[in-house]
Amino acid sequence: MQSWNAPEVPTIEGQGIVPRVHDTASGGLRELSGVGGRVGMYVCGITPYDSTHLGHAATYVAFDTLNRAWRDAGLDVTYVQNVTDVDDPLLERAEDTGVDWRELASSEIEKFRGDMAGLRVIPPAHYVSVVDSVDLVVTAVSEMLRTGSAYVVGDDVYADLAADALVGSIGHLDDAEMDTLFAERGGDPDTPGKRHPRDPLLWRGRREGEPSWPGGDLGEGRPGWHIECAAIARDHLDIPMTVQGGGYDLVYPHHEMSTSHLREVTGRQHPAEAFVHTGLVGYQGHKMSKSRGNLVFVSQLAADGIPADVVRLVLLAQHYRTDWEYSSAQLGAAARRWQRWQDAAHLARDTDESATIAALRAAIADDLNTPAAVAIVDAWAARPGRGRAVIAAVSALLGVEIG
Ligand code: ZN
Repeated sequence: MQSWNAPEVPTIEGQGIVPRVHDTASGGLRELSGVGGRVGMYVCGITPYDSTHLGHAATYVAFDTLNRAWRDAGLDVTYVQNVTDVDDPLLERAEDTGVDWRELASSEIEKFRGDMAGLRVIPPAHYVSVVDSVDLVVTAVSEMLRTGSAYVVGDDVYADLAADALVGSIGHLDDAEMDTLFAERGGDPDTPGKRHPRDPLLWRGRREGEPSWPGGDLGEGRPGWHIECAAIARDHLDIPMTVQGGGYDLVYPHHEMSTSHLREVTGRQHPAEAFVHTGLVGYQGHKMSKSRGNLVFVSQLAADGIPADVVRLVLLAQHYRTDWEYSSAQLGAAARRWQRWQDAAHLARDTDESATIAALRAAIADDLNTPAAVAIVDAWAARPGRGRAVIAAVSALLGVEIG
């Protein structure tokens, strides 16, 4: 499906640096250079039933920073993102509000595109609707049934996690933690007939009043949540992909399960080189969440006249892996910083700034250390005789316009 308009990304002088990024599975930093100059990144997309909040924005800006660093290092990036445009939360919201689920999804997807374009996030090469990918899911689930890594329960199909010895190797959680998170995050531990309470749904057979699609031998139905990302990643990326990414709350069960499914349908033990997860954003003392209602919407900040540069600077002032608490005071601080940078850019000259640009690149290559990068630009802005070349570097690497 259509993504959104790409921002201008200037090329900058000198040589970019291949980033080292924290991998949740191994717990260490990995240099992510892909294969033959090509890198592939899959970042889980939204379920389009509500507007983009700052927690989403923080995640997509973090992966945008990685994307920009890779491009600067001369790598060819294939970026894939799905949109979960049929799933229980969407159908429930549609039912509660009396809006057709397709209309709800398409209006929220349209808003998301506007929010991402407004924040100057480089769009994915493949922005993929699950509704458009049902055939891919049917193929994947049918393969899993054939190889014995899935089984039928009534009209539904479940993955048999016992078939995968590596499940659990991303999050390293114990049984009690997995039980809790599985039940909290969309799982159905109590469904009768399952071989294990944590086996995830792959295909939900048709139910009265729910949308469904032809599933061949599976019968009519709709995709489970985790298999959609496995099926879409397999179709659009070379496996192993370089990065599977998302918010930290996707580690379990979503990434653990989708990676297990991808193992089953590709035969690759390690379908992703690294699993990269962003910290959670809090507001008013709690993680931003739809259920709690403490959301700060990107579209509302834009409607209030806050420039994208200021929003990006709020996000970039935090390290992507750290949980943090948003407050409106951060908007003021970011606005003042942006103004200082613009004033500095206005008075910049044609002096050599290769050392500053090298330091900026090194900060970002060091596990996307954007707070350090921001401090480097602060120092540049405070220094007399500063050079103009930093303006393009700030645009290319941080997505912030100051010139
Ligand atoms: Zn996903």
